[in-house]
Amino acid sequence: MSADTQIDLPMKKQSGTELIRFENVTKRFGDNTVLDDLCFTARKGKHVTLVGPSGSGKTTILRLLMTLETPDSGIIQVNGTRLHPAGEKERREARKKIGMVFQQFNLFPNMSVLRNITEAPVRVLGLSPDEAEARARELLDLVGLGEKRDAKPAQLSGGQQQRVAIARALAMRPQVLLLDEVTSALDPELVAGVLDLLRDIARTTDITMLCVTHEMSFARDISDEVMMFDAGKVIESGPPEKIFGDPEHERTREFLGAIA
Ligand code: ADP
Repeated sequence: MSADTQIDLPMKKQSGTELIRFENVTKRFGDNTVLDDLCFTARKGKHVTLVGPSGSGKTTILRLLMTLETPDSGIIQVNGTRLHPAGEKERREARKKIGMVFQQFNLFPNMSVLRNITEAPVRVLGLSPDEAEARARELLDLVGLGEKRDAKPAQLSGGQQQRVAIARALAMRPQVLLLDEVTSALDPELVAGVLDLLRDIARTTDITMLCVTHEMSFARDISDEVMMFDAGKVIESGPPEKIFGDPEHERTREFLGAIA
């Protein structure tokens, strides 16, 4: 994506608005306390990467933001709107600001690529089919798949499917983009293309990103902040140079050593 791309996404500018707030959030599954009194904020346009061992609660944070899970206690806000605790109307408003890209793409298998992208803007945002299609075509060009608009997901490679999933998330004009290990289901040769696309989106838009990834060089490139999790708590956080270059905690050193 070139810097002068005429795409209608929020463009990069300096701002200190708080986009995401977790205040004393606790989430349990039975006896398992997955998030333990978690507090953090992410400001507009910032890219926050969540790292830590499997089972430390990273995906649960993204799922809470998507309202796929409900916390046991605490407050979650998106751009000043309550996601939890909240009434149905407020929750729906907050939820509209968020897009997510999943590990397994989760495209609608029976719909064309174009329809995958237009479906939610028409149903949820109330765009006309023509408006939604015009925007979908722009986004498909952006992700380099303009010629695949009539294909079905199964006719595409994993990398192409993930690009469609990214276009689908962007079609909702999200203020927040959640990325959950988006390259871990891809063949190794397809990983770089998807990461390059995300780097471009990170560089040229003002979308706030929360990213769970094991791709440490990608995390280093795009992150403003890295949060290291262990057992449902943030054990340290800071700029990538600090967390990757000079971590304070033995647990962080062990984790980074194990995946290097
Ligand atoms: P991570 O993303 O860091 O690997 P997760 O947030 O996926 O961690 O999971 C944290 C913990 O919550 C794990 O112990 C996992 O087994 C548990 N967990 C996640 N979802 C559910 C669920 N729907 N029911 C029961 N336990 C769950």
